[in-house]
Amino acid sequence: MGRVAYVNGSYVPHSEAAVHIEDRGYQFADGVYEVTAVYQGKLIDEQGHAARLDRSLRELQIAWPVKRRVFGLLMREVIRRNRLTNGSIYVQVTRGVAPRNHNFPKGVPSSLVMTTTAKDLDTLLGGEPTQVITVPDIRWGRPDIKSIALLPNCLAKQKAGEAGCYEAWQVDKDGCVTEGTLSNAWIVNAAGELVTRNADENAILNGITRQAVMELAQTASLRVVERPFSVDEALAAREAFLTSTTSFVKPVVRIDGKPVGDGAPGSVTRQLGVLIGERLAAAVR
Ligand code: PLP
Repeated sequence: MGRVAYVNGSYVPHSEAAVHIEDRGYQFADGVYEVTAVYQGKLIDEQGHAARLDRSLRELQIAWPVKRRVFGLLMREVIRRNRLTNGSIYVQVTRGVAPRNHNFPKGVPSSLVMTTTAKDLDTLLGGEPTQVITVPDIRWGRPDIKSIALLPNCLAKQKAGEAGCYEAWQVDKDGCVTEGTLSNAWIVNAAGELVTRNADENAILNGITRQAVMELAQTASLRVVERPFSVDEALAAREAFLTSTTSFVKPVVRIDGKPVGDGAPGSVTRQLGVLIGERLAAAVR
């Protein structure tokens, strides 16, 4: 059996799945999304992702497409129909289908699409060292909303790829790193503090993995400081890493071609990588 997508009430072969040309997601990027990891068939951090989806929808005044309880059942059914063991489930909600007009349509149900992707999460947990470039953060003023409008992220990620790097760290007008294009950015400074951009000023997406790492750091008696840090501070840091749902904790060993610390994954980063792996294993026990 091939891949199956859920599209507005129907389960359809992935290759035939389609939305209407006047879906507002297609016309205006008027929608939001979530990517949740699936490990040994189970949803990881389901509540955190559902809560962030709820926040994104509320911020944009988009109605839930189905009741929250039904939403959870649909996700499980999509995972079951795809026989997904390890990977991720992508959920997208848009403001629905309506004649193209900037104003919100009235009485139109929001659209819901779900797809899955198989991924070897155990390998991704290995924390392969990565390199990043820095780029100006040209996004809109609300990257805290997990909007499907990802063009600046795509442009920056493409530039990173062309430079042989995994990720691009976006830099604000004050020279401080906001976050990656699909991950949060962290450094470990000379004092051994974990520094990551604060999430209370709408400058970043408050990553679910970011939040998990903050909890893990606390249990490991590591100090986390949420504040902006500059590119220079990152280059002078002992360690750097990035976090996301499917990359977990990835060491960043070079920024714009310059080594961070000794240019190899640091001990704090490796420790957090082990802890996030243990957390994942505990979630499916
Ligand atoms: N920042 C951005 C811009 C993202 O797109 C993502 C994930 O897609 C993240 C951070 C990491 O968030 P999470 O840990 O919830 O995957």
